[in-house]
Amino acid sequence: MARYTGPVCKLCRREGLKLFLKGQKCLTEKCTFNERKNPPGPVHGRRGKQTGYAIQLREKQKVKRVYGVLETQFRNYYEKSLRMKGITGENLLTLLERRLDNTIYRMGVASSRAQARNFISHGHIYINDRRVDVASFQVRIGDKISLSKKISASPLIPSNITVARGVGLVADWFELAEDGQSAAIVKYPVRENIDIPIKEQVIIEHYSK
Ligand code: SF4
Repeated sequence: MARYTGPVCKLCRREGLKLFLKGQKCLTEKCTFNERKNPPGPVHGRRGKQTGYAIQLREKQKVKRVYGVLETQFRNYYEKSLRMKGITGENLLTLLERRLDNTIYRMGVASSRAQARNFISHGHIYINDRRVDVASFQVRIGDKISLSKKISASPLIPSNITVARGVGLVADWFELAEDGQSAAIVKYPVRENIDIPIKEQVIIEHYSK
């Protein structure tokens, strides 16, 4: 599946906030955004006041970058969110939140969504005892998520879990096993579970033109 492979810290500077794309580095002094907050690109190319369109575009790009989703797939989420009951913007975010890569990240098992995608593509993630290697898989209530024996034995996992618990990253829409390495989905995420500063309504306005 196509994915962004360019420099990721630049994306935080572009969006003007920390997007937490590099795992534990993002939580340390080494985070590039602590040093450089200016947007990438030449200074003379920057405009003053943003137009309404530019604001909408930036909001959309921010969400795409947080969840690691490219344009076509993001638009598909938007189309699907339109067909769902409830508020379209919230539907869009909860669909993104229910992606398997995000779920693994929100369990604390992976230090970033990118690392979660890596675990998934290498066959380390099981849903209801069946291996799933699709990062965009939508988890459902009742799904049981577990790790392969190989990745379970890695010291990386308890280290990631400790850090995630320490910064309050672990979500509450699943029930975690005591060791944090498996989980059962008990409810669907709601808007309040997503603490990234996102104005989802602005994204919906962008697409509904
Ligand atoms: Fe963004 Fe900092 Fe993480 Fe780089 S290290 S991805 S700048 S939050």
